[in-house]
Amino acid sequence: MKLSELDPSWRDGGRALLFLCPCCRKVQLRIPFASGPNPQWRKYGTTFEDLTVQPSIDATPHWHGYIEEGQIKDVAKPAPTTL
Ligand SMILES: [Zn+2]
Repeated sequence: MKLSELDPSWRDGGRALLFLCPCCRKVQLRIPFASGPNPQWRKYGTTFEDLTVQPSIDATPHWHGYIEEGQIKDVAKPAPTTL
């Protein structure tokens, strides 16, 4: 999935990213970057097509994953155990 499919937008002059939750596309996730009032994430890249955000975004129970070069990626879930 691409970030650009999730109606992304910048807030606070590019200091925060808003996009729809990848799991339900009903709630908006807001990511403040290092220069914002609540620094936690760093961004690399300048457009929604090449954006990388570190570290991962934990919006549990909605979604836990990361944005890498404009792609939405889920954190790998543990493999199901077979009995
Ligand atoms: Zn969701």
